[in-house]
Amino acid sequence: MKKLAVILLLLAATTLAAQDLPHYKRIVKELSSAKYQGRGYARGGANKAGKYLQKEFQKAGADEVTLQHFTIDINTFPGKMKMWADGRKLTPGVDFSMREYSPGVSGEFPVYHIDTLNFNPDRILKDLARPEYANSLVCCEFWFTYRHSDFFSKLQKAGECPNAGLLYTWESPIIFFKAYGDHLVDKPIIWVTPEAIEGVNRVRVKADHQFLNDYPLFNVIAKVEGERHDSCYVFTAHYDHLGNLGRKIFYAGANDNASGTAAIVTLAAHYAKNRPKYDMYFIAFSGEDANLRGSQFYVDNPAVPLEQIKFLFNIDMIGDNNPVQYCELSEAGMPAFPLFQRINERDRCFESLNRGELAANSDHYPFAVRNVPCIFLENEEGDAYQYYHTIFDNWQHAVFDSYEPVFKLVTSFIGEY
Ligand SMILES: [Zn+2]
Repeated sequence: MKKLAVILLLLAATTLAAQDLPHYKRIVKELSSAKYQGRGYARGGANKAGKYLQKEFQKAGADEVTLQHFTIDINTFPGKMKMWADGRKLTPGVDFSMREYSPGVSGEFPVYHIDTLNFNPDRILKDLARPEYANSLVCCEFWFTYRHSDFFSKLQKAGECPNAGLLYTWESPIIFFKAYGDHLVDKPIIWVTPEAIEGVNRVRVKADHQFLNDYPLFNVIAKVEGERHDSCYVFTAHYDHLGNLGRKIFYAGANDNASGTAAIVTLAAHYAKNRPKYDMYFIAFSGEDANLRGSQFYVDNPAVPLEQIKFLFNIDMIGDNNPVQYCELSEAGMPAFPLFQRINERDRCFESLNRGELAANSDHYPFAVRNVPCIFLENEEGDAYQYYHTIFDNWQHAVFDSYEPVFKLVTSFIGEY
C-alpha cells in the first residue's frame, strides 16, 4: 500500500513536471510585461521578445535554436495619440483607436453623423458639400459601413468626397486590428466607441503614425532531436502582437499569444527531458498579427521539407477557460480528428472539441494550404475572450485553465499517432 502511494506520488510529480504550469506562467508574465511594449514592431518589442525566446528555448534544453529573418512593410502608431470630443478628453485604447491602415491625423474637425435609419448616399454627399461640414469626419457604425462598402470606400479616397476622414464606431472596449496594415488609405480612419462620439459636434485629434518599410523581423526555430530524423512533429505559436497605440498604451497580448508561445516553450522543455521518437520543431512566429507574415515566409523557406511533417500543432490563444476547446484541422489532418476526440474523451482534457471550418486566422493556415496535416487550437469565448485585441488582454486578466488540458491532448496524441 505504502509502495503504491509512493509510486502514485512520483507519477503525480512527473506529470506536474511535464506540464510545468509555473514555467508557463513565468513566460506569459514576462512576454506581457511593459519591457516588450506589446511585442509590436515600431518600438522593437517583437524582436526583443524573439531574443528572449531564443534564450528560453536554449534553457529549455533545445539542441539547436536558429533565427529566420524576414521583412515586412507595416503601419504603426508609436507617437502622439490624443483626441477630444467636444472638449472632453478621450482615452486611447479605451474610447478610441486607429484603423490599422490609417494615416496619421492632426487638427480640429466637424463631425457628420450618418443617419443609418434613413440612409441616402446622394443626400450625404450634398450635406458634405455644405460649408459647415467642410473638412469633416464622417461617423458611422462599423458593420453598417461594411454592408455599404462601395459608398464608404469612396469616403476613404482622396479627391472623391470632401470629408477629411472617418470615424467608425465599435463597442467598448475598443479593439485594435493590425492584419491589414501593410498599406495606407488616403484618409484617416479612427475607431471610436458609440458612447464617446454620440451627439458630438467637433473632434480635435493628434495621432501620429509611422509607416515602416522592409522592417526586419524573425521567427525563432528550436529543434529537439528525436531518435529518427526522416520526419518530425512541429509546434507553432506566434509571439508578436499589436504593439503600441501612442506612447503610453501597449497591447500586452497575454492570451494573444503569450499563452501559446509559453506553451510551446514548456513543450520543448518536456521533449528535451523525454527524448521523442521523431525530431521536434518548436517555431515561434513573428508577424502573425500583420497577416501571418512569419508563417508565410516559413512555408516558402522551410527548415525541413514540409512533406516530412507528421503533424503540426498551432497554438494561438489558449489563455482562457472555455471547457469546450475550439479547433480547426487541415484536410490532410482530418483523418486524425477521431484520435484527438478519443484521447480527449478518455483523458478528460476538455468537455468536447468543437471543430470549426479551416480559416486564414492563424499560422496553421499557410501550412494547411500546402497539405501539411495540422490542427489549430484556440480556446475561444471563455472569460478572457472579451479582451481579444483590446488593451485589457494583459497579465492582470490572464487565465490559465486551458494550458494543462492542451498539453495533455497534444502529448498523448503524439504518443499514439
Ligand atoms: Zn493570435
